[in-house]
Amino acid sequence: MTESQSPLHLTCRNLRRSKGLTQSDLAREVGCTQSAISMYEAGRAESLAEEKVRILLDILEVDINDISLPETDEGKRAESTLKYCPVDECPSNVPYVTRSQLFFKPMMIEVTVGESTLCSFCGEPLEERCPNGSCGAELREGSFCWSCCTPYVTSTRATGRNPERWADAQRARIRELRELTETRRRGPSRIPRLPG
Ligand SMILES: [Zn+2]
Ligand SMILES: [Zn+2]
Repeated sequence: MTESQSPLHLTCRNLRRSKGLTQSDLAREVGCTQSAISMYEAGRAESLAEEKVRILLDILEVDINDISLPETDEGKRAESTLKYCPVDECPSNVPYVTRSQLFFKPMMIEVTVGESTLCSFCGEPLEERCPNGSCGAELREGSFCWSCCTPYVTSTRATGRNPERWADAQRARIRELRELTETRRRGPSRIPRLPG
């Protein structure tokens, strides 16, 4: 299958990932918010104005060799930083509903500064800063930026369509996935004790 046969928003997402750009990286270049990119890639084309889409397409067609990444000695020190996956449907993000609004508690992963890290669940490049371009604060545990209160993970789902039911089903799926990895880690010799 050639790229022109898949929907444009998926092509964009794949091209961005192949360049190792996070949604925030791309948003900064396009001049929009990370959540607009996130929604655009989820197929909600109305989240980006046509001129922004044109800029986005321009950026994604640039040869990867033309992109020079700044590399300093500072960045080479083995410091660690927190990162998270910005994909709302990824199992690393636990959804919950407050006043009919869908929020996510992202799994924060500690990694070495300056390394591009892909999500082990879905392959998305992990974010290392607040997705609000004008804030860009470093990450802390929680669902929202400690500095500007922007949610780390934006829901790309249309709201108002029973978010509770979706969140419940998604949490069950995540629980199942984590139980599978737990079982693998413990091995067959220890059977988990049931409560009660
Ligand atoms: Zn992910
Ligand atoms: Zn912020």
